[in-house]
Amino acid sequence: MKLLEGKKAIVTGASRGIGEGIARTFAQAGADVAFTYRSSAERAQQLEQALTGLGVQAKAYQSDAASFEDTEKLITSILADFGAIDIAVNNAGITQDNLILRMSEEQWDKVIDTNLKSVFNMTKQLARPMMKNRGGSIINITSIVGMKGNAGQSNYAASKAGIIGFTKSIAQELGSRNIRCNAIAPGFIETEMTDQLDEATKENYFSNIPMKRFGTTAEVANVALFLASDLSTYVSGQTVSVCGALNT
Ligand code: NAP
Repeated sequence: MKLLEGKKAIVTGASRGIGEGIARTFAQAGADVAFTYRSSAERAQQLEQALTGLGVQAKAYQSDAASFEDTEKLITSILADFGAIDIAVNNAGITQDNLILRMSEEQWDKVIDTNLKSVFNMTKQLARPMMKNRGGSIINITSIVGMKGNAGQSNYAASKAGIIGFTKSIAQELGSRNIRCNAIAPGFIETEMTDQLDEATKENYFSNIPMKRFGTTAEVANVALFLASDLSTYVSGQTVSVCGALNT
């Protein structure tokens, strides 16, 4: 039997990058997968077809993770289409980097709303259905930047640090209902998000990574698979770094 056979998952921001890697890994492990995107409709359709080709139910939903209203409608639709949600991965995220002297209120709000409020939006909608379902696994994608901070990323670091506190609180609130809540803190993973960085920043990261390579989306997805599955039934409230020992 596959690790996620019979489970139903929602992954936010899965049209590319880490979210896409998690959606593919979950479907390969037998899960039915609902996933969201913001604007990459064509890529989302391609992924939906690829996942369906693996013999599971899969569906793409256009939904803004930062919007409470969108998330409410999204969960209603997914519950109607899939019947239940056992696993939620809050992955959708953005960067809008700037030094504090130049950071606009808009840059601050956009990053906090997309990265942190989104996690509240989803958890708020899922708490009841998961309680009714007598369990669930919520996985929040934070970052080692949320633990260490990073000059030029105060908005991003604050959003990711907030996710860690939120994760621990939800694990304590919902633990007695068999709902687990964990976070994954990737280091430097090769995706379109990190492609945007200039060469000097990439070299600086690289020189500090003890494993002397960047990570892959599959390496993050495998940790998500563990946290989503029944291999981790007594793991909750934790943050697992996937960073080649960058954060030690
Ligand atoms: P990415 O390649 O830029 O992909 C971001 C994904 O999120 C896309 O599918 C995008 O959809 C979606 N998205 C963005 N804003 C959204 C919104 N408001 N509503 C719904 N979906 C939205 O990023 P990534 O590198 O895979 O990062 C994924 C997560 O891992 C983020 O939370 C990021 O902070 C975290 N992380 C990444 C790294 C890294 O090194 N890459 C390290 C640490 C943490 P569209 O395609 O439609 O825009």
